[in-house]
Order: sequence, then structure tokens, then C-alpha cells
Amino acid sequence: MHRSQTRARWAGPSGRWALLVLVLAGLAGWLSRLTGRGAGGTMPGRVAMWLVPDMLRRLAVGRRTVLVSGTNGKSTTTRLLAAAVASRGAVVTNADGANLRSGLITALMRDRHGTATAVLEVDEVALPDVLAATGADVVVLLNLSRDQLDRVGEVAAHGTRWAAALEQAPHARVVANADDPLVVTAVRHARPTESDVVWVAAGAPWRADAALCPECGDAWDTAAAPWRCAACGLAAPAARWKQLDGHVVSTAGDCSPLRLGLPGRANAANALMAAAAADLLAIPLEVGLSGMRGVREVDGRYLSVVVAGKRVRLLLAKNPAGWQEVLDQVAEIPGRVLVGVNARDADGVDPSWLWDVPFERLRGRDVVVFGECALDLSVRLFYGEVPHVVQPDIAAAIVAADTPELVVVANYTAFVRARSVVRSGAAAA
Ligand SMILES: [Zn+2]
Repeated sequence: MHRSQTRARWAGPSGRWALLVLVLAGLAGWLSRLTGRGAGGTMPGRVAMWLVPDMLRRLAVGRRTVLVSGTNGKSTTTRLLAAAVASRGAVVTNADGANLRSGLITALMRDRHGTATAVLEVDEVALPDVLAATGADVVVLLNLSRDQLDRVGEVAAHGTRWAAALEQAPHARVVANADDPLVVTAVRHARPTESDVVWVAAGAPWRADAALCPECGDAWDTAAAPWRCAACGLAAPAARWKQLDGHVVSTAGDCSPLRLGLPGRANAANALMAAAAADLLAIPLEVGLSGMRGVREVDGRYLSVVVAGKRVRLLLAKNPAGWQEVLDQVAEIPGRVLVGVNARDADGVDPSWLWDVPFERLRGRDVVVFGECALDLSVRLFYGEVPHVVQPDIAAAIVAADTPELVVVANYTAFVRARSVVRSGAAAA
């Protein structure tokens, strides 16, 4: 596959320099792990990118590459697709969720000859740049909703940037969520004839960020299914892939039971998107799904372990749409609910989104709030009429629990803290 391009990647003086930088950056990452200065993280990629600005392009040349982007579900979809692809060959992926350019370079550095298929989770803001640099073969677009108001900004503007990026990448085949109007509008602007677009009925229960038609601005009935704008006629495209009675089916006649190891509607939708992308990589449905069924956690999400004699499950939610999905999953799990929120840079420093999450759904549950924004959360739950206890320290909250089952839901850095507490507690048990 593209062997001459692969060789050309490190040819000539600039190629040899880039290769030397890769080796040295890899060594620096290894030393950083050895000396305990963090897990190496994205440092090797940052060093490589600083010394060789086109490093991502070099690592991607001639490689089969799939990019997965969207506001929610990209880590899980990437993990599922990587598992599907792994059943047919070598895969390189950013399983640690480092989804900016430096993280992608760090991931691809592990296979500098480009023989493995790259399945990469990409930050929705970084997608245009990454698509241009990698010339990816397949782009998977999950959904668009608000996330980190201070960082990501206006949702519709992302759709416009996605459309422009896809227009500049006519070779890329697109797998897109037919149920998300913002995604559909972006894709249709870039691919008016819808050639090389595979629509997937992946659902979009959160329409609060598309309360107006993205095409004409008219207010529409957000509950209508399939969605349609009466004013301009913008409507859900006919999907090639959908779910039917617990099966993944396609209009081409594919049909296989889903039977995932991950819980909830959102993960079934992620698997559907992954199955559609795997199909473009010529992986038969049942082969891909059997790979996906082995996935039981994604970087600690959905982890279920025993800590201090209690069964603890971990769930991550980062924005209103994500919380809505996760509260569905919480409803299916018995026991005390520990809800945690931080507002660091990685979370978004403005926690006003708490008021958009339907926390009222926790009424009747035994609830403890934790994290650096425990008091903000407490005020939110007070107005939501959800009785609760405040315990900012997650470790203390787990130890103090007198129920046999606990479910921990947290946003990003609060989740990272909870995961480390749970993992060390499970190891000690
Ligand atoms: Zn309209």
C-alpha cells in the first residue's frame, strides 16, 4: 500500500532529520517515563512537532487513516473501531485520549513505517487541521453540541469549519450521524451530491443546541423523528446503517446482534458508527462486532471494580449532552450515586453548564457530591430538589459509603482523580 510514499517519508536530508528527531523524541519519552516525570504523555509528540513542523503529515503519508471526531463518544467510538480493525490487522491508536496534534504524533510514532492502520480520536476543534495534515481516508463525524463554553465556543461555527475542511479533502469518505442536524448540514455543504457519504442513524437525544434549523434559522419541533424543517425542507437523510431490535443492520443486507460489553444507548450508537466505518475498511460486520464485544472499559470509563468491599462503577460525562446519556446509565445501576465536578482548564473553567444538566433525575437516589466544584453542584442539586451530602474528597466518600454498590459520575479531571483512587483501592484490596 503506497509503498513508495512510505519510503519517501524519511528520504532526503529533511526526511533523515525528521527520522532522527522521531528517534530522539521517542527516547525522551522513554526517559521521562523511567524517571517518573509523568507517563511520557504527549511530550514526545510536542518535541517532534516543534523540531519538525510537518511531522504529522510525514507520519500519515501512505498510511490508511481514520479520524473520529465529535463532541461526545469519540474516545469510545475510536476504541471500538480500533478493536474491530485489530481483528484484521495492525492498528495504531491514541487510546489515552490525547486528541490534539501532539497526542496524534505521539501515537503514530509507535509505527513510523506506516504499516498499521491509524484509528485516531481527534478533538472537534482540531479536526480541520488534522484532516488537512493527514489526508485521512475516512472521517467519522458523531455529533456536535456545547462543550467547554470558554474554549470551544459557538457550536454552529464548528459545523461551518468542518464543512470547509471536508471540502478541502474531497478524497475522504465520510461516515456521519444522520440524526444530528448540525452534522448533516456540515456534511451536505461539503458533499452536495452525498457521494462517499455513509449516513448512520445513530440518534441524537440532545437537540438543545440545534433548537433552530441550522440551515434557515427557523424554530422547529426538536422532538420530531425523523427530524425535518417545515420552513426550508432540511431533513434527516436516509440512513444506510441503523439499529433494529438489538441488531446492527444495513440497507446492503448486513444484520448482526450487537451484544456489546459496554452499557447504554450512547455506546450502542458509538458501535453503530464504528461498524459503518469498519465496513469502509472492508471488515465484515460480524468480524468487526466480535472485536468490539471484547471492549469492557475505555480508559477507566465503565470500569467496575471492588474497592473496600464495595462494587464501584465509573462513568465519565463532560457536557450537558454527555451527562444526559450518563444519567440514563445511572438509572440502571443500583446503589449510592457519587457525582463529582471540577472546573480546571481541561474541564472548562466555567461550570455554568451545570444548570443545563437534568440533575432532577437523581431525585429519590442516595447522592453524594464531590470534587472541587462540590459546592456549585450542591447549589444546583438544592434547586433541583435532590437531597444530597457534600464530601469534596472522593476517597473519603468511597470509604464512608455503607452501600454495597456505588456509581461514580464525574467530569474530566474529577474522573481522572476518581479513577486513580478506585484503581489504587482495587489494587490494595
Ligand atoms: Zn430550515
